[in-house]
Amino acid sequence: MTLVELHPMVAGECLNLAALTERGGRWKVRAYPAGFALLRHPQAGYALFDTGYSQGVLSAMRRWPGVLYGLVTPVRLQPGQTAREQLAALGMAAGDLKTVIVSHLHADHVGALRDFPAARFVLDPEAYPPLRHLRGLRAARRAYLPELLPDDFETRCEALRFSPAPAGLHPFTEAADVFSDGSTYAVRVPGHAPGMTALIVKTGAAADTPAGGLTGDGSGLTLLASDAAWSVRALRQNMGVHPLARFAFWDVRQEARSRKALHTWLQSHPLTRVIVSHDLPETGLPEARLPEPEHDS
Ligand SMILES: [Zn+2]
Repeated sequence: MTLVELHPMVAGECLNLAALTERGGRWKVRAYPAGFALLRHPQAGYALFDTGYSQGVLSAMRRWPGVLYGLVTPVRLQPGQTAREQLAALGMAAGDLKTVIVSHLHADHVGALRDFPAARFVLDPEAYPPLRHLRGLRAARRAYLPELLPDDFETRCEALRFSPAPAGLHPFTEAADVFSDGSTYAVRVPGHAPGMTALIVKTGAAADTPAGGLTGDGSGLTLLASDAAWSVRALRQNMGVHPLARFAFWDVRQEARSRKALHTWLQSHPLTRVIVSHDLPETGLPEARLPEPEHDS
C-alpha cells in the first residue's frame, strides 16, 4: 500500500474576532495561521494542498478592491514564510512543484499559485465556475481576488474526477482518488466556498493494518479539512460559527451539511489526525476520541 508523507506548513496569518469563528468565543482579535500542506507521494512526487498567503496577496490588498479584503481580514506575513520560500529552504525550486491541490479559491488558499509556474491545479469542477466572472467588490466580498490566479489558470486546471466512494468513506457517497492508487481521497465539502474539497490521506503505517485505514478507526489517516471549521475542536464537536459569520459563507445549508458529514466520518474514524487550515495541526492522538456531546448548529 502506498503511504503519503504529509508536512503541515503555515504561510502568514490573518486576524479575526474569536467570537465570529466559534460560538461562545470571546470578542477579541486573534491571529489565525494560514495553513497549507506539502505532500510527498512516492511516485507522483511533491504536491501542495493550498498555498497560504504570499507577497502577491499583500500587493493585491494595497489596491482596490483587495484593500477591502485586507480591512475585513488583516494579514501578516513574515519574511521567508511564503510557500515558495519554504520549499526553497527544503531544496526545491519553484519549477519542481508539479501539482497544487486547491481546496477552494479564497485568497488565503490560492495566494501563491503564481509562484509555481510549472504546477497544474487540481480542484473540484464546481469550485471555479461560480466565481469566474466575479470582479471588483462582488469578488472581494467572496474572498476571491481574481488577480491572484495566474493568467493561464484555466488551461492549467484539472478537475478532480469523482466516482462512488470506496467503503469507509460514509457518509460521503463519492470521492476522487487523487493519485489513482487509493492513497489520497478528495471528498466534497462545499458551502464555506463553492466546490470546497477536503482530503483524506493515508499517512501512517497503521493505515495498512486491519484496524486502520478507511474501514478502520482512522489510525494512519490524516484529514485535511481546509476551512470546514476554524478549529479542530469545532470540527470534532460539530460546532458552528457565530451566526454573523455565516454571511461569509457561499451557501449556509451546504456548509452545515458538509461540516456534519466530516463530523460523522470522524466519529467513525476517531483516530484520524485532523488538520484545518486556520488551527494548529493535531499532534499525537486527539483527546476527542472520547464521545463528545453533539452540537447541532
Ligand atoms: Zn476559505
